[in-house]
Amino acid sequence: MYIIMLGGPGSGKGSVGGRVSEDFNLPHIATGDIFRAELKSETELGKKIKKYMDNGLLVPDEVVIETVESRLSQEDVKNGAILDGFPRTKDQAIALDKFLAEKGKKVDAAIELDVSDEDIVKRIVKRVICSNKSCGESYNTEFKPSKEEGICDKCGSTLIKRADDNEETVMQRLKVYHDTSKELLEYYKDTGVLYTVHPNIYSKTVLEDSVSEVETYLKNK
Ligand code: ADP
Ligand code: ZN
Repeated sequence: MYIIMLGGPGSGKGSVGGRVSEDFNLPHIATGDIFRAELKSETELGKKIKKYMDNGLLVPDEVVIETVESRLSQEDVKNGAILDGFPRTKDQAIALDKFLAEKGKKVDAAIELDVSDEDIVKRIVKRVICSNKSCGESYNTEFKPSKEEGICDKCGSTLIKRADDNEETVMQRLKVYHDTSKELLEYYKDTGVLYTVHPNIYSKTVLEDSVSEVETYLKNK
């Protein structure tokens, strides 16, 4: 199954996508994570994308598409994947459909997590993530604090703030999301694969509730 996670920055698509990936035994492919790793290792690709990421702007389509296609060509993806943060534009969606069609595959579901801008800002400015790349657990100092301040519950590594999780960049990322997501959502609505969840971010069980709603939908498809 090829499943796409849609939603604004901080909507929870990474956390929900990660859980669905474990439960359905499908690789979780997050373009933001791939790009952050490239930045950190200062690769050629990393140098190319830094200015976009630092400013909350979209990395150009051809760079993103090439990166994703190379990841999707790896052996572990042959039964499907959870795509998180890709596609972000209609052209990326069209490129993905074409790529999958050549392999006799298709997008099976596009899951949208619909959270208001106000809630997103509240969430992101208080978000901290695990510095250990293979863990990557996400916390919120107000809504979902770690047991010990600054330390990951799961692996004991230190918690850090993402460089682009400040109010100014979040506003920019939200603007970009609204500018590009409309036609993307329309695109998946037209192909009949769009399913929208409305997470209640003030609930302690928001992650579990969203995951279980998404998984129920996927199992009954
Ligand atoms: P968020 O959804 O919280 O903004 P991501 O981790 O998905 O964060 O992405 C971080 C940054 O990586 C984006 O602001 C953008 O610069 C770049 N990026 C990630 N995925 C894409 C994509 N599909 N197309 C263009 N740029 C992307
Ligand atoms: Zn951790």
